[in-house]
Amino acid sequence: ARNLAKRFPVGMKLFGERQSVRAVDGVSLKVHRGETLAVVGESGCGKSTLARLLLRLIDPSEGEVFYGGRNIAALPQGEMRRLRKDLQFVFQDPFSSLNPRMSVGAIIEEPMRVHGLGNAAWRREEVARLLTRVGLRAEFADRYPHEFSGGQRQRIGIARALASGPKVLIGDEPVSALDVSIQAQVINLLEDLKQEYDLTLVLIAHDLAVIRHMSDRVAVMYLGEIVEEGATAALYAHPLHPYTRALMRAIPIPSPRARKAAVKLDGDVPSPLSPPSGCRFHTRCPIADLRCAADRPALREVAPGRHVACHHWQRVAREETAVLAEPE
Ligand code: SF4
Ligand code: MG
Repeated sequence: ARNLAKRFPVGMKLFGERQSVRAVDGVSLKVHRGETLAVVGESGCGKSTLARLLLRLIDPSEGEVFYGGRNIAALPQGEMRRLRKDLQFVFQDPFSSLNPRMSVGAIIEEPMRVHGLGNAAWRREEVARLLTRVGLRAEFADRYPHEFSGGQRQRIGIARALASGPKVLIGDEPVSALDVSIQAQVINLLEDLKQEYDLTLVLIAHDLAVIRHMSDRVAVMYLGEIVEEGATAALYAHPLHPYTRALMRAIPIPSPRARKAAVKLDGDVPSPLSPPSGCRFHTRCPIADLRCAADRPALREVAPGRHVACHHWQRVAREETAVLAEPE
């Protein structure tokens, strides 16, 4: 994705111009074939909008999304529909994302029909196979979504997403609506399916805990922008952005050393309608200074594959190293 932006008009026209929320504001991002990229941020940071832009479930206000060398943000609808076979979405809410009037079999079969895959008999077998593969029973095809639990419905949603034989799967907080006890099962399922189907995964999450063990890289979002990006292990070991460091605090950390390094994140995310000047995080950042309120830091590559948007990332890096050097 290059310079992706999405503005949603809101409220009344002011002086002939309608106000707008910049839900996503200039995001550039690479997703490598076969990897799992996690996009993390608090609610309202634009991550769900970004996910929808990446698959063009919504059109961007600006920017481009390249898949297989083509800018899908500019493809005619017909071509985009054909490409949907490759690019599938798993929704956050397994209760509203399945049509209650369709049988589970019809729901899973639909993408195959739309893309003209196989004949009716083949598709029926395929539905049975997919149901079994996601840990459900083939007979469930004749039943309806309301007969299933949240976890089961999300498995149905995953089976539907797999039905067209996709290459890329984007999950918008696919487990956050589920009981904690079920979350790990569904995450494990996604991990297995990723190997088996050779998928590229983008997982949207609101905290760092869920995706820690399954993502290769992490992009951290704040108010429509990516503020830090890097390999998962490196980012967890040495966060360079004060916001990433604060998000770490939300994770139960066994080590007192690591806990000490975490800082508390006060207050809510400011309204994206009028984002703060300069660095958008400066109203909540514990180390903000005058420069932060005036200059907007650019996302820069500070080490191979490691990007951060902060004027004082070196200070954060030093503090992290100092804390790590202390005896437990
Ligand atoms: Fe904090 Fe300043 Fe860095 Fe923004 S640029 S994260 S306000 S230190
Ligand atoms: Mg969301």
